[in-house]
Amino acid sequence: MKVHFCPGAAPEDLEQAPCGTWLGESSELSGDWARIDCRLCQSRKEKIIGSAAAEEHAIIEQMGDMADFMRAEC
Ligand SMILES: [Zn+2]
Repeated sequence: MKVHFCPGAAPEDLEQAPCGTWLGESSELSGDWARIDCRLCQSRKEKIIGSAAAEEHAIIEQMGDMADFMRAEC
């Protein structure tokens, strides 16, 4: 059985894991990396985490800009 990574709730009828593997009856999805035993997913792990971190960074930066903007308005 292979466990693929899927952030958040996956739709019931999802046929393909985010890594591109077609899901069979013996496939599972999890958001917990400790449970992932799909090599494709594991090799993408750093990329996935990296992009999530980059996104987070962008959001924080955006919030900082907004705070600056609000301070300038006052
Ligand atoms: Zn996978």
